[in-house]
Amino acid sequence: MGYNALRILKEGLSRNVGWRPIWRSLEPKSEYDMIIIGGGGHGLSTAYYLAKNHGITNVAVLEKGHIGSGNIGRNTTIVRANYFLPGNSEFYSHALKLWEGLEQELNYNVMMSQRGVIMLCHSDGQRDAFARRGNAMINQGDDAELWSTEQVRAEIPYLDFDNTRFPIYGGLMHGRGGSARHDAVAWGYARGADRLGVDLIENCEVSGIDVVGGVVKSVQTTRGTIRAKKVGIVTAGRSSQVAAMAGLEVPIESHVLQAFVSEGLKPAIDHVISYGMGHFYISQSDKGGLVFGGDLDFYASYAQRGNLPMMEHVMEAGMTLMPAIGKAKVLRSWGGIMDMTPDGSFIIDRTPIDGLYMDCGWCYGGFKAVPASGWCMAHLMAEDRPHEVAQRHTFDRFETGENLMDEEGTGSQHNLH
Ligand SMILES: Cc1cc2nc3c(=O)[nH]c(=O)nc-3n(C[C@H](O)[C@H](O)[C@H](O)COP(=O)(O)OP(=O)(O)OC[C@H]3O[C@@H](n4cnc5c(N)ncnc54)[C@H](O)[C@@H]3O)c2cc1C
Repeated sequence: MGYNALRILKEGLSRNVGWRPIWRSLEPKSEYDMIIIGGGGHGLSTAYYLAKNHGITNVAVLEKGHIGSGNIGRNTTIVRANYFLPGNSEFYSHALKLWEGLEQELNYNVMMSQRGVIMLCHSDGQRDAFARRGNAMINQGDDAELWSTEQVRAEIPYLDFDNTRFPIYGGLMHGRGGSARHDAVAWGYARGADRLGVDLIENCEVSGIDVVGGVVKSVQTTRGTIRAKKVGIVTAGRSSQVAAMAGLEVPIESHVLQAFVSEGLKPAIDHVISYGMGHFYISQSDKGGLVFGGDLDFYASYAQRGNLPMMEHVMEAGMTLMPAIGKAKVLRSWGGIMDMTPDGSFIIDRTPIDGLYMDCGWCYGGFKAVPASGWCMAHLMAEDRPHEVAQRHTFDRFETGENLMDEEGTGSQHNLH
């Protein structure tokens, strides 16, 4: 079913009884050309681009829960391409270009809102570092503007500019950054993949990966054994556990990241604002809730909920940056399991097992990567060679020492850096 204005009018006039489920509910087949384990944003976009870009449609996405139940439905929805290092710059730049055409591509409203992302600076040194980052972004072909304190004050007057310890010295504005509706992205890719013939199998947990003579043969699931020529592990926070099913140890630790949403308020925050002296960032949703988050919980965990000390840390940073936030009531908080690599950058690579591939290590920033990750993982699985914008993101960088430490780059051990 295609979506367009006429369709909405017709359904509106006929009591909306004509809408259909946007993907099929299927029994798994006994064999596929390719299996993707994990029906999050990255697994779904991989399946979509396998079908769309490479014509490979005999594909199943196996999801242990329901589509959208993982981090794809738990993040704070920020999309940006403001990275500094070669490797990350071209990848996230590619991702942002895909985001800009995603609604037309998927015929689905993902509520892409390029409202601008501003990273605030609070010292001369930080402003110099942001100037350098901005130049790197411009060299990559993306947009960046260094805003003075006065420019920030004119646009975002409610911040505490004269905080004694952390006065605001300006910020780096990335105008094409913004946000998109997270679960709509999952639904849009799921619908797109389904329409191209991909089987989406929900409530199908993978419990084993069969490898014979160094070649992947099949996966064991709660709905039986399924054979495949190629298998992609795209399970975000569960990456190490699923890799271990094939006897692999991967450089990933899982940590909880929390997010918070306030009661609905009148429009107040026009941009995504990121504090430079504590881990705190905030935007306002279309429903009016203030959506904000902060740092990882500092210990490895598979619990999809956070702890009180980190909540306090986030609230404290929020109050320092914009004291007015203290009047808003927090309605909900939640957590998701992050797949943290030692350098804070991701991996899209083959494994030592023939036919087994991994897309993982998205840390706290994999939502904005969804389109490019699927694009590159599909390329890798279809052509057995990395896509040019992801070619540095291999496992062997942890042996060679090639540096992909961007942003904080502190990986799973934030507190020890
Ligand atoms: C609170 C929070 C805020 C965030 N904010 C941002 C942000 O603002 N911007 C940004 O870019 N990123 C953000 N992120 C990070 C981003 O959400 C993740 O990096 C990204 O969603 C991970 O990829 P995914 O969507 O494929 O993961 P998921 O949606 O978690 O997909 C993985 C799927 O694999 C399934 N699975 C696991 N094990 C198995 C198995 N054995 N068998 C079958 N299926 C299995 C899971 O059920 C899950 O559905 C945030 C994350 C959190 C938690």
